[in-house]
Amino acid sequence: MSLLEVRDLTVTYPGGAAAVRGVDLRLEAGRKLGVAGESGCGKSTLALALLRLLPAGTRIGGRVLLDGEDVLAMTWGRVRAVRWAGASIVFQGAMHSLNPVHRIGDQIAEPILLHRRATPAGARSKAGELLEQVGLPAARTRAYPHELSGGQRQRVMIAMALACAPRLIVADEPTTALDVMIQAQILRLVERLVADQDVGLIMISHDLAVLADTCDRLAVMYAGRVVEEGPAREVYQAARHPYAEALSAAFPRIGDPASRFAPRGLAGDPPDPSALPSGCAFHPRCPVALESCASEDQPLREAGPRRWAACVRVGRDTGPEAGPLEEARGNTP
Ligand code: ADP
Ligand code: MG
Repeated sequence: MSLLEVRDLTVTYPGGAAAVRGVDLRLEAGRKLGVAGESGCGKSTLALALLRLLPAGTRIGGRVLLDGEDVLAMTWGRVRAVRWAGASIVFQGAMHSLNPVHRIGDQIAEPILLHRRATPAGARSKAGELLEQVGLPAARTRAYPHELSGGQRQRVMIAMALACAPRLIVADEPTTALDVMIQAQILRLVERLVADQDVGLIMISHDLAVLADTCDRLAVMYAGRVVEEGPAREVYQAARHPYAEALSAAFPRIGDPASRFAPRGLAGDPPDPSALPSGCAFHPRCPVALESCASEDQPLREAGPRRWAACVRVGRDTGPEAGPLEEARGNTP
């Protein structure tokens, strides 16, 4: 049984925005799944739906099986128990959500006290251990948030996410607000923790290069759909969907000789989820769209061993490897 299995997940916000549309994902313990896509493609909505953290009135359909138990069918009591002990989220910019008037150690100890029935002294010493795990001295439990740097605060958030030994960690753009050096340190830290503790990780980012370095598999989202999924490096280096291709060209790897050439951006923005285009939602921006793309929606199709892409060209003679996009990019992996 998989640690997490998402089946046909749909999320529609009260105003009618179809932010997630029929997403299927699977994650095994000890594995890392990257979720990429521009801002507005539904990544955070997907993350929030996994733990039912969406605003009241939001319609959620499908299934979210965590160790085989459907989170969407749980009672609220059960959901609350699962939120720390089963799965936990490190949010985008979460380091700003630490309470400024409480010591770091007390804030880490709080979920331990709530969910693990530890004594106050036990929870405090566990907080110190957690800080050491994320590379901070245990004595920093006595610090207030303003006494820490941005990178240190993000480490504290990761320590909090680990506090109740969850089986699944969802990290939603955990390093976006940090500078590049600190970003790399935090990513290595998260990687190591996942490997040591056999938890599953979903790492969300708009930066495909970062995900390709960190994750085993990659799912690329566009307009609420997964448009490509497969082994992380393969998706990054040889995307089969034109959107994934454009995204990887926009985020060249640092040190990659190809990155000396200016990355080709993608004009325009993802569509408003309450007014989606007909057919394939990417067709208005797609450099290689066919006439039929404006009317025919594309399901995910097999695009190689353990690879899927939702493009009309996949599995046809006009595959993206022969298409103008690949030629224009001209960097063979
Ligand atoms: P991402 O994390 O990929 O940037 P989000 O999941 O935050 O994307 O947003 C997906 C879409 O859902 C966006 O168009 C956004 O405007 C919309 N959205 C997000 N939150 C809400 C909300 N609370 N109510 C209505 N629409 C929302
Ligand atoms: Mg987001």
